[in-house]
Amino acid sequence: MKITRNLSEAAAREYDLVIVGGGIYGAMLAYEASRRGLLALLLEQNDFGGATSFNSMKTIHGGLRHLQNLNLNLYFQFVKERQWFLNTFPGFVKPLPVLMPLYGTGLRRPSILRLALQLDKLLAGKWNNGVSAKRRLPFGEIVSAQRVKEIFPRVNPRGLKGGAVWYDACVPDLQRLLIEIVRGACSMGATALNYMKAVNILRENNRVTGVTARDETHKSFEFHSNIVVNAGGPWARKNAALFDQDFPWLFRSSLAWNVLFDRPALSEYALAAVSQEAGAQVYFLHPWKGRLLVGTGHALRSEVLENPQPTSGELAAFIEDLNRAIPGLNLERKEVLHVFSGFLPVKQERSVRLSKSEVVIDHSKHNGPQGLFSISGVKLTTARLVAEKLLTQIFPAHSSSLSSTHLFTNAQSNEYSYSGIFDYAWLPEEHDSGWREQMLRIIEEEVVCHLDDLVLRRTSIGDNPVRSLQIAPMLGTLFEWDEQRYRQEISRLKNHFQWLKPDPPD
Ligand SMILES: Cc1cc2nc3c(=O)[nH]c(=O)nc-3n(C[C@H](O)[C@H](O)[C@H](O)COP(=O)(O)OP(=O)(O)OC[C@H]3O[C@@H](n4cnc5c(N)ncnc54)[C@H](O)[C@@H]3O)c2cc1C
Repeated sequence: MKITRNLSEAAAREYDLVIVGGGIYGAMLAYEASRRGLLALLLEQNDFGGATSFNSMKTIHGGLRHLQNLNLNLYFQFVKERQWFLNTFPGFVKPLPVLMPLYGTGLRRPSILRLALQLDKLLAGKWNNGVSAKRRLPFGEIVSAQRVKEIFPRVNPRGLKGGAVWYDACVPDLQRLLIEIVRGACSMGATALNYMKAVNILRENNRVTGVTARDETHKSFEFHSNIVVNAGGPWARKNAALFDQDFPWLFRSSLAWNVLFDRPALSEYALAAVSQEAGAQVYFLHPWKGRLLVGTGHALRSEVLENPQPTSGELAAFIEDLNRAIPGLNLERKEVLHVFSGFLPVKQERSVRLSKSEVVIDHSKHNGPQGLFSISGVKLTTARLVAEKLLTQIFPAHSSSLSSTHLFTNAQSNEYSYSGIFDYAWLPEEHDSGWREQMLRIIEEEVVCHLDDLVLRRTSIGDNPVRSLQIAPMLGTLFEWDEQRYRQEISRLKNHFQWLKPDPPD
């Protein structure tokens, strides 16, 4: 089923709910609403999944951290959602082994980690139910110092006591998974419009009746519904203020980023590495498609901007600290291929202590209009669950009947055989029409409005920034653009790869 864009038809319908924001939370809301037989409209001001969701570390967490804090409620939510992702998208989601070298200090002692892993095994015993044997997650364990050195030869051997190994999951092509979710929602009747910004709500007698929205040409549209869910991610607070009133606790923002380096991954395992200095930060080194993706940098930012980025100084300090955590790594600024950055909600203004759970606001409970809800989430891992909980609150009589696995039959097929997924070194061949046909189908079926939609969010071409810019002129010819538009589109894509040095390393 295609994602179609017929604006006058979309404006003529009456919806059960309008969702503002097409990140992972909005996409999951559209999908879960459609599963309940509700007619949903999803509005995204830019492209689907292009903001925070695009910049995530692509990890589906198993909640081990919440177990360490004995927050069993949150822990079980993460375990359950990890299982949902593994079951529903076996082709997109794969197990991710994680190694944490242990030096016997503080909470990172083998005895403490052993206890946590044993508890995890006991409590999450059913987590593998229904997961195919190939993607079943093994239980975590404590391994010897010798084994740590085998997994991670560059580990600092001084004082090494052993390591903790556990299993999370990851979605290397999260952008494709998000589009599959939007397609899934559309196949059940939802309408999804990208490049459509909700600018206000419509109301009658303090009851929501819809939203007004504008497309890229500033043309206005009205969309009608008695329920509006503001799922604008970091912009949810701004929307809430515009639609009704400000709720500071909806999203107090901080900046977070991950860096993709032009280096092979250091191990097949993800590594949770930390220097032995007191209070040092733990770095997560994700072997993303065999490359080195490292996070997470944090900085104070209270203003939510369109395209958040760390400063050059913040990035330099991040690299320096990372090099301290892993002696001999010697990463350099010129090896930076891309910085994935976005806003995360924090507990208090001017702090980087991250919020632990979602915020849901029913505006009518605060003298606001009936039918207006605002949400903000903390992890993509729990986006589906938050959608489920909110829809049960708003539409208690509608339960879902369709199974997710039945819906995403496409996603059940072989790993990486999906359209749009190319390996890191892939280059199009002039005389091979196969790739052209594939791209033209994506353009036609998945509302590709700009070149960067195709490169970054419908395919995996953007994984390799150097290759993306190299083949952008060829990809531009797939569209029927005049010379001026063609140039604009190429420069839009170049802007995205602003961290790439003019002469990237070979
Ligand atoms: C660096 C980093 C790493 C992370 N790593 C992980 C990870 O590994 N695992 C994990 O589980 N979580 C991770 N997270 C958290 C996760 O990415 C977020 O919780 C999640 O992506 C938030 O999704 P969202 O839909 O709420 O926000 P977004 O993805 O930002 O989507 C909100 C959308 O709403 C749109 N919008 C806003 N206002 C309007 C409007 N008025 N009209 C139309 N559209 C509008 C925006 O354009 C945007 O696309 C990470 C976050 C960061 C920043």
